[in-house]
Amino acid sequence: MFGLIGHSTSFQDARRKAMELGYDHIAEGDLDVWCTAPPQLVEHVEVVSPLGKKIEGAYIDSCFVPEMLSRFKTARRKVLNAMELAQKKGINITALGGFTSIIFENFNLLQHKHVRNTTLEWERFTTGNTHTAWVICRQLEINAPLIGLDLSKARVAVVGATGDIGSAVCRWLSQRTGVAELLLVARQQQPLLDLQQELGGGRILGLEKALSEADIVVWVASMPKTLDINSSQIRRPCLMIDGGYPKNLDEKFSGSGVHVLKGGIVEFFEDIGWNMMELAEMENPKRQMFACFAEAMLLEFEDFHTNFSWGRNNITLEKMDFIGQASIKHGFSALSLNSQAQAKVA
Ligand code: NDP
Repeated sequence: MFGLIGHSTSFQDARRKAMELGYDHIAEGDLDVWCTAPPQLVEHVEVVSPLGKKIEGAYIDSCFVPEMLSRFKTARRKVLNAMELAQKKGINITALGGFTSIIFENFNLLQHKHVRNTTLEWERFTTGNTHTAWVICRQLEINAPLIGLDLSKARVAVVGATGDIGSAVCRWLSQRTGVAELLLVARQQQPLLDLQQELGGGRILGLEKALSEADIVVWVASMPKTLDINSSQIRRPCLMIDGGYPKNLDEKFSGSGVHVLKGGIVEFFEDIGWNMMELAEMENPKRQMFACFAEAMLLEFEDFHTNFSWGRNNITLEKMDFIGQASIKHGFSALSLNSQAQAKVA
């Protein structure tokens, strides 16, 4: 059985959804009430791959909302409680979606193996970052030519280059895709220098300079909503792959020649009878999902029950190959500019 741990995109949204699901007592509570609310297993689902393999899964809402990010202990408790619930339900492999994997890594939850009388078994969980990184690279390779960009001549800026996903994307683009130049963007210098050395190339640049030079921008950092970008300096055409969470770049860049694609999203080959992706606000929620969620499904399809994506900067090209091949085999495809536009019209 696979599991997905997720959360609503805002407190307001969470209350509305709780009301729809019949959890009135929680829905009416204020943020303090929500801080104490336990995780909920809200849905079971059955999924069949194009090869006929059937798997079962469950969606757990951690009852975390982004407004709780500044409440360190609450955020930590929410993620650990959701993981405990997944394990108690006997789920083999569960993906940590949205902010939950970031909380896990940034708040160093590896130190908190014991939750009440449960000892968490890390091999039951995955961040899903390997599949996310592979999907973002495929999105770049497929969509750049659609807007007239020649990858062998393209400059690609990776914003969040030193992160878990960003560093994997950089490795793939420099060794597999073969783009003309990588522009490496992050705030801290030393990790950037280490990455540059590992890659044997790439130019370290500030965000503004990188944006003015790049034909393609891969965003794999959670950018503040207040970030002010002068879009007149962006090259045309430009492909922007919004791999961060929340996905809010289309609000910032609009206008001819700038193509914003939601990054790290995949589509299953047929409708899945679940409601859970409506919670995640997908354009086509019966088929689309975060690639990190799909990683748990792929590991279940492959009977590969292990914490496949774990820790920081452990994503190898071999792991990306494995999960990428599994993704294609089991009926997933990376969201493209074309499918994104079709879903908007529908
Ligand atoms: P990490 O914390 O490992 O990396 C974040 C990276 O962003 C680091 O390189 C960091 O470097 C950089 N960064 C952070 N803030 C800024 C800033 N203001 N300007 C420039 N660089 C910045 O995160 P992950 O790799 O695990 O995840 C990256 C993003 O991808 C997150 O937003 C996450 O939510 C999202 N994600 C999306 C998924 C999907 O859509 N399917 C699945 C999983 C994750 P520094 O601190 O030095 O600036």
